[in-house]
Amino acid sequence: MRIGGVPVRADASWFIILALLTWSFWTRFNLSYPAGTALVIAVAAAALFSLSVIAHEIAHALEARHRGVPVGGITMYLFGGATEVYSDEVTRPGDEFALTAVGPWTSIVLAAAFGLIAYLGQRLGVQWVSDLFGELGWLNLLLAIFNLLPGAPLDGGRILTAIVWRVTGNRWKAVRVAARAGRVLGGLVLALGVLELFAGGFAGGLWLALIGWFLIQAAVAEEYQANLREGLAGATVGQLVAVPPMVTPDTPLSAVTGDQFYRDHHLESLLVGDGQGPSGVLTMEDIRGLPAGTRAQTAGAAARPIAGLPSVDVDHPVLPLISTIAKGPVVVTRDGTVVGVLTAPELISAARRARDLNRPPARARGRFA
Ligand SMILES: [Zn+2]
Repeated sequence: MRIGGVPVRADASWFIILALLTWSFWTRFNLSYPAGTALVIAVAAAALFSLSVIAHEIAHALEARHRGVPVGGITMYLFGGATEVYSDEVTRPGDEFALTAVGPWTSIVLAAAFGLIAYLGQRLGVQWVSDLFGELGWLNLLLAIFNLLPGAPLDGGRILTAIVWRVTGNRWKAVRVAARAGRVLGGLVLALGVLELFAGGFAGGLWLALIGWFLIQAAVAEEYQANLREGLAGATVGQLVAVPPMVTPDTPLSAVTGDQFYRDHHLESLLVGDGQGPSGVLTMEDIRGLPAGTRAQTAGAAARPIAGLPSVDVDHPVLPLISTIAKGPVVVTRDGTVVGVLTAPELISAARRARDLNRPPARARGRFA
């Protein structure tokens, strides 16, 4: 579905959470209501809580768009909601701060509003209203507090990024600081989950441990992305692109996957074409992915048609292209003529080389017994 023009998708894992959430509300309300009534309140609570999470994400998305940052969409999944924001287009720490902080802020406003409804229900003597909205108020407050913990990928981590970015002027350093904080935070949550497991709280402990593990993974990925982007900052496509050799469409794949070919070229891609110029692109990644039996094919049959691939000019900066190249090869042109192909492995090795050159010499470390 679409809300305010932002596509909202639900992953299958979201429905597992929805069922668990309904069940946990039901066991809670079952203590003070007849089973049927308890089920109705539980379903309403689960639905309203889902809408609260979506409201939190929509707030991120709308604020991002308001600041000119494109938004891919919102996905509801196992750990709640995620808004895909094209963060390469965030150019100011103030924007990062604003589009992040609006999420927890929305949850806090919802917590206050639900708390007020619960209070009014209590005053008017409508117990189920007071119970239902009281629960929703606390959950939204909890959501805001958890999200404000200062470690990437949580909102608190992005706020930390914005602050360090603003103070140091170095965005990638700021992302690394928040990512490391996220790793520590994930470790703590994981440890807490394990402790709870041993204390006999099986479901709660397992859930915490899973969240901790997820946080660590996501933080490690963010640090990797920051390093990659730092290595590529300022580079143009033309500085990274290598001109691949061109083979004719009837060349057997076995000829281009042979050892001799690798020794000669050390390239990640090939152009396929004839006298008319290149018509296709063959990446080593594509070739490696082919089932063993199909290697007898020709290069022409296995190649991706060049017309279907995104293309950029040699003077284009590399940074905004990272997410495109991660999905597949990009054709590089000069004045409309194909000069080469850029693939993900080439980006990664270029970033690594640049970072090795930039890195200060390691300080000698003494060993103390
Ligand atoms: Zn958020």
